[in-house]
Amino acid sequence: MKIIKSIRELQQQRKNLSDTIGFVATMGCLHNGHAALIKRSVADNDLTVLSIFVNPAQFNNPSDLNNYPITIDADLKLAQSLNVDIVFIPVAKAMYPNDYHFKLISNDPLTQCCEGTYRPGHFDGVLTVVLKLLNLIKPHNAYFGEKDIQQYRLVKRMAESFFLDTEIVMCPTVRETSGLALSSRNARLNTEQKQRAEHFARILQSDLSIDAMKQQLAKHHIAIDYIERHDNRLLAAVSIDDIRLIDNIPV
Ligand code: AMP
Repeated sequence: MKIIKSIRELQQQRKNLSDTIGFVATMGCLHNGHAALIKRSVADNDLTVLSIFVNPAQFNNPSDLNNYPITIDADLKLAQSLNVDIVFIPVAKAMYPNDYHFKLISNDPLTQCCEGTYRPGHFDGVLTVVLKLLNLIKPHNAYFGEKDIQQYRLVKRMAESFFLDTEIVMCPTVRETSGLALSSRNARLNTEQKQRAEHFARILQSDLSIDAMKQQLAKHHIAIDYIERHDNRLLAAVSIDDIRLIDNIPV
C-alpha cells in the first residue's frame, strides 16, 4: 500500500495507471461504514484509492473541526487489511493552493434544506473538495454512503453537471446492532451519551409521527436541528450535548 501526501506525487502516479480505479473519500477515524465502501471498491475495481482529509472548508463550526477525531495509525492498518492500493493524505494548504478563493457554489434546491440550512456553506465545501479529489484521482467509480444521502445526491448531480467521467455509487448505511448508524463522531460519545444516540436511532426507525418523534427525543434530552421528509426519506440531525449526529431512513 502506497501512502501519498504530495499532490504532485499523486498526479505522477496517476499518469502511470491504466487499470480501473475505485475511490473512497473520507475524513478518517475509519469504521465499518467506511470499510463497506472500501470493500465494494476493492471488489469492483483493479485498484482502490482512499483519501483521508478533514476538509476545513466544509466545517461551519470551528469547534466541530477542532474536535474531529483523528486516528491515522489505526486508519492505515485498516486500509492495509482491506487491500487499499493508495492512501492519499493531503494537507489543507496543498488542497487549497489559493486559499478558498476558487470554490464550487451550488444553488441546487438540495443545498437549501436540512444540512444545507443548518450548516451554511457546508455543501459548497464538500462539493469543492470532492471535485478536486475526483480531478486528481480520475476514478472510474467513486463510492459514497447512504448515511449522508443529501451529500451523495449532490455529488451525483455535480458529477453529471460537470461531465465527470466517474460513476458515483451509493452504498447502504452500516449500523450497530442497536440501530445506531456508524459515524466517526460516535467515537466522542461517552457511555451515557451513546445510550441517548441509540435512542435517537430507535426513535427515527420507529413508525411514530414526526411530532411524536420530536417529543420522544426531547424526553431523552436530545436536541433536534430537524426531522424532515424529502423524496420518500426521513432525514434527521440532532445533537447529544455538543456532538452532532445525522441519519436518514427510507419511508
Ligand atoms: P466521512 O469520513 O464521514 O466524510 O465519510 C466518508 C464516506 O463514508 C461518506 O461517503 C459517508 O457517507 C460514508 N459513511 C460514513 N458513515 C457511514 C455508514 N455508517 N454507513 C455507510 N457509509 C458511511
